[in-house]
Amino acid sequence: VERSFEIDIDRLKEVVFSRDVRVVGLQLPEGLKRRGPEIAGILERECGVRVLISGNPCFGACDVDTRLLGRVDLLFHLGHSGRDTHRIVFVETPARVEVERVLEKALSLLESERIGLFTTVQHVHSLRDARDFLEGRGKKCVIGKGDGRIKYPGQVLGCNYSAIRGLDCEELLYLGGGSFHPVGASLATYKRVVAADPFTLKVEEINPELVVRRRYAQLSRARDAENWGIAVSTKPGQFREELALEIKRKIEKWGRKAFLAHMDLISPDSLLNLGGEAWVSTACPRIALDDSSSFQVPVITPPELDVLIEGKPWKMDEIWG
Ligand code: SF4
Repeated sequence: VERSFEIDIDRLKEVVFSRDVRVVGLQLPEGLKRRGPEIAGILERECGVRVLISGNPCFGACDVDTRLLGRVDLLFHLGHSGRDTHRIVFVETPARVEVERVLEKALSLLESERIGLFTTVQHVHSLRDARDFLEGRGKKCVIGKGDGRIKYPGQVLGCNYSAIRGLDCEELLYLGGGSFHPVGASLATYKRVVAADPFTLKVEEINPELVVRRRYAQLSRARDAENWGIAVSTKPGQFREELALEIKRKIEKWGRKAFLAHMDLISPDSLLNLGGEAWVSTACPRIALDDSSSFQVPVITPPELDVLIEGKPWKMDEIWG
């Protein structure tokens, strides 16, 4: 699968040749990290630059390795879509996989006539083909635009479902792998979601109930905590300090204690060592929603705190742009 994601090395070389750079940084998502040494070798041999690969985990365009950026003239951030700056160049890595076979299978699960299509950046280039295929089978497809953090129509992030919110359709079809995005879409829109993975050819209707049950279990563990930690990530696209301060005020007004903790990576050990009985994470929503089982203390999202304190209905934590 790793080789099914296209990396446009010629573009990297062109960018290097067009600028006066001597040291280049390379940041890759976990699934593509193993290709780092090969790309570094090509750039070093053919462009005469020194390449430093980031070994830190990289989860999204929000997660630029700022330490490495301080040591290089130019940083290539691969695998995510973002806005280039003069020293950071985002290089998307589109999946090269045909989608018709999995769409054919997905047809049997789709119940309504009007379908909203969405995916991650790796498959956005296939959405037009998907729409043509489904419309050729009698469906009507809609693809939404999204807010300022969304680069392509139909694209979602784990923390941003603006491209499908309010779409005029009864159900949604996700093209891509993994369960987080389709579950997130279901929780963000309350619509029926079918997921179709073009690599494994697995198609399924998403059932978000288990996730919601787990979230309410976390909330009941957190409910009586007297001493709350509020985690603020220093990753550029996840830094929500204003929100963290507002949360601190809310918790104190609720009659409990609260402290802010800044950290790059929010790990089980860092939370445990700081000693909060329960935590609100203002960083990537996946930390609370996807990784909660690895933390020994309950970790909840900012909107979940409103469920606890104000009895508001549960809602997805999203970062708007
Ligand atoms: S904050 Fe959003 S874009 Fe960044 S890793 Fe999390 S879900 Fe992805």
